[in-house]
Amino acid sequence: MEQYTGKSIFNAIAIGPIYFYQKAQATVVRKHVDDIEAEKTRFASAKDAALKELQILYDKAIAEVGESGAGIIEVHMMMMEDDDYLDSIGNIISNQEVNAEYAVATTGDNFAKMFAAMEDEYMQSKASDVLDISERLIQALSGTETEMKMEQPVILATQDLAPSETVQLDKSKLLAFITEYGSTNSHTAILARNMGIPALIGIGLTSKDHGKMAIIDGANGILILEPTMEVLRDYQEKKAKEEQQKHLLQEMKGKTTLTRDGKEICLYANIGNVGDVAGVLANDAGGIGLFRSEFLYLEARDYPTEEEQFRTYKTVAENMAGKKVIIRTLDIGADKQADYFKLKKEENPAMGLRAIRICLSRPEIFKTQLRAILRASMFGTIAIMFPMITSVWEIKKIKEILAEVKAELSEAKIPYKDVEIGVMIETPAAVMISDLLAKEVDFFSIGTNDLTQYTLAIDRQNQNLEMFYDAHHEALLRMIEMTVNNGHRENIWVGICGELAADQELTERFIRMGVDELSVSPAYVLPLRKLIGEIETNG
Ligand code: PEP
Ligand code: MG
Repeated sequence: MEQYTGKSIFNAIAIGPIYFYQKAQATVVRKHVDDIEAEKTRFASAKDAALKELQILYDKAIAEVGESGAGIIEVHMMMMEDDDYLDSIGNIISNQEVNAEYAVATTGDNFAKMFAAMEDEYMQSKASDVLDISERLIQALSGTETEMKMEQPVILATQDLAPSETVQLDKSKLLAFITEYGSTNSHTAILARNMGIPALIGIGLTSKDHGKMAIIDGANGILILEPTMEVLRDYQEKKAKEEQQKHLLQEMKGKTTLTRDGKEICLYANIGNVGDVAGVLANDAGGIGLFRSEFLYLEARDYPTEEEQFRTYKTVAENMAGKKVIIRTLDIGADKQADYFKLKKEENPAMGLRAIRICLSRPEIFKTQLRAILRASMFGTIAIMFPMITSVWEIKKIKEILAEVKAELSEAKIPYKDVEIGVMIETPAAVMISDLLAKEVDFFSIGTNDLTQYTLAIDRQNQNLEMFYDAHHEALLRMIEMTVNNGHRENIWVGICGELAADQELTERFIRMGVDELSVSPAYVLPLRKLIGEIETNG
């Protein structure tokens, strides 16, 4: 029996076998080839396959986001057919008698260095494009696409999981996960909480651990490998008790969330996709306070179409049967990356081109999403909120774009409702101008995850800063209070949808500040309803 300690993300127990997943390593090995002509033919067919893939992506992008979104794919197709690039690959194969993968990787590196050294900024930007097409060609040559094949419920162990990888996991086969790297406030951690599964960070297992029986004790942040029969039995009992307690909380279902002195609090849940709605209903949340719509984009290999998005939002609205569904518009960027957005690598992505900044710089993408949301508004009670706002002009611009989309829908006789709009308060700038923002919108939802990182200057992804990270920092609590007061002065409601909303040590303080809504991972709804029932607003 071995025991490890990590940082816990969700307090629950999981018992099952370890599935170790080694991420694909894009290393290219130089190999000698005897038949040079056969190698060149192999390269030619891989290039055709890669070009076909690009053509499909191009057609889809043209249909969905128009010329500007498709332009980059066209550039990649042209680069893949470039004579100098192809000659270099052909020459390396012939002169050095080596495999095509090696010739492509070498050519890609040489061309990227050449572009990077140019004066012109536009030409410099071609360096990442040439590396990108070379990577695509290498994949086509080696046919690598490592997939996780979890055949039974397992505890997944790996080095790191990006949010885009986490959303693609088969949740019916996932008991828990363990990663070597990551932080407790990352989006991967948030996803685990939304799914209600235990996860531990900071434990590095290896392929030698694959298949070993394991226990995750989320309450204590412990992983036990190959437990003795006695320990296993002990944890099976604890798990049964955990189930019993969950069962007891069921008595809170169907009840309104009221403080002891009768003030109603909206207790909503956070979701990332349609699959999470089952958890929202099972835990009887009063609505959805944060639908992180970017996960729709992260699950896809290309921009989700208006139709695809419409169907998703409609299904969520219908399943919620009239209860409020607050859809947050695309918050991509920083740790949430989808390759097809072709976002440039940034030194400081958390402060870079992300969220509303992408939507306002690429309005075709934004308008597609707004159209889909407005169309879905006919099927329930939908509200829209906008992430990462820092200035009043942004919300004014958003309202202009929204008005354009509404006019286009009216023109085409497509019905929609006038939905509530709100902003996320997740930058110190938004807090400081919340008096002005409150005049523009119907509600505020405080995103404490980002508000904490920007206020304390602590990167939420950086696992080495946890000793400086104070989730209860007075600066943050004062900012929340200021936002609530400014919102109430303009008669709009104010909620919290960041992870802090579920922090039971702060619930009383939030309620006394006058917070109107708390939106949390589904599994926290019933425990919070119980706790709120014990709080006096003016005690
Ligand atoms: C937040 O920042 O608190 C928030 C709710 O948004 P996200 O965690 O998706 O950045
Ligand atoms: Mg945020």
